[in-house]
Amino acid sequence: MMYDVNRVREDFPILAREIYGRPLVYLDNGATTQKPRQVVEAMVDEYYNVNANVHRGVHFLSQQATDLHEASRETVRRFINAQSTSEILFTRGTTESINLLAFSFGEAMVKEGDEVVVSAMEHHSNIVPWQMMCERKGAQLRVIPMTDEGELQLEALDGLLNEKTRIVCCTQVSNVLGTVNPVKEVVRLAHEKAIPVLIDGAQSVPHMKVDVQELDCDFFAFSGHKVYGPTGVGVLYGKEVWLGKLPPYQGGGEMIKNVSFEKTTYNELPYKFEAGTPDYVATHALATALDYVSGLGMENIEAHEQELTRYALERMQQIEGMHIFGGARNRDAVISFQVGDIHHLDMGTLLDRLGIAVRTGHHCAEPLMRRLGIEGTVRASFGLYNTKAEVDALVEGIERIRRMF
Ligand code: PMP
Repeated sequence: MMYDVNRVREDFPILAREIYGRPLVYLDNGATTQKPRQVVEAMVDEYYNVNANVHRGVHFLSQQATDLHEASRETVRRFINAQSTSEILFTRGTTESINLLAFSFGEAMVKEGDEVVVSAMEHHSNIVPWQMMCERKGAQLRVIPMTDEGELQLEALDGLLNEKTRIVCCTQVSNVLGTVNPVKEVVRLAHEKAIPVLIDGAQSVPHMKVDVQELDCDFFAFSGHKVYGPTGVGVLYGKEVWLGKLPPYQGGGEMIKNVSFEKTTYNELPYKFEAGTPDYVATHALATALDYVSGLGMENIEAHEQELTRYALERMQQIEGMHIFGGARNRDAVISFQVGDIHHLDMGTLLDRLGIAVRTGHHCAEPLMRRLGIEGTVRASFGLYNTKAEVDALVEGIERIRRMF
């Protein structure tokens, strides 16, 4: 059963705003999503009524804040179907999750001459941390190629995997092309050679049901702010067997068992990887956001956005001079395009004047831009609250700008 999108929009106060005297059409959900009242109110309520540092206090408020924080970990566990809350690490976001993993995994598992595999369509945050680690360790980055349609070439992946490969890192959904990658197949191929896999779920978690046990991935990262939660909080999931073998990322409070000037012993999972005061207000608000989308039903959100994407593609393809990048068979609610020789920046700026928020540029995927032979695109990305009327506004806006040029 689908939800009533107009009713749902009322939960998001910002959607009622006008920009330059026109109703806001927010199509930059790939960059960040808007927040429902419930999420903001959870934060306000916690700051006003509960606030105290977690884990270290015997007093009532500290206990209550700790309970909320740990209950949030359980909500995240359930949401991605991890086996245990010790596998759920809170971070600042996808970027920090991957940096944590690249550091800790690199320290324990990577030596000179080893190889790390990433895909041709990764966000910089799933390239640069690995590159930095490779540089430190004298290892090599290898790349899974893709077709012109924007699909990964899995036959090539098999050839890339060898006894030197330490890890495969791949996005589940491309933030530029909208390609939904067959990550379960990537995991299967890598596991045949006992190689672990990290999946970047920044662009999948907001749009589809994710089950880390079903995917059988070893690590999974996502950001709270892209799934209607607050900024500054994210998650790294890791199988216990792996996390147990990795050294801490940062040192400080919370991640220790005992400290002396001679030697420090580390805390158990997940705390070993969570040095310092966590953003416990944000973790609670993230859990509130996950409950919110679960309440609507991830299947319903996916169905709504798929229908919107199909409708948008159909209408946009009729625009003269329209070029849509990527044509993967399995695609998500992201559409990158260019119209004639109108520069993406001009298109984005003029759409903004019509109240339509889209993203322009390289989308933190310069290697992918190079592969496509372009400098940037205009990107419209949909969220659970977008409507066909907003797609119509986008199409009419593009038409109007096209006629101007
Ligand atoms: N990976 C992908 C695929 C993304 O789209 C993004 C955000 N654009 C990130 C990683 C980084 O997420 P964050 O900035 O929240 O750390």
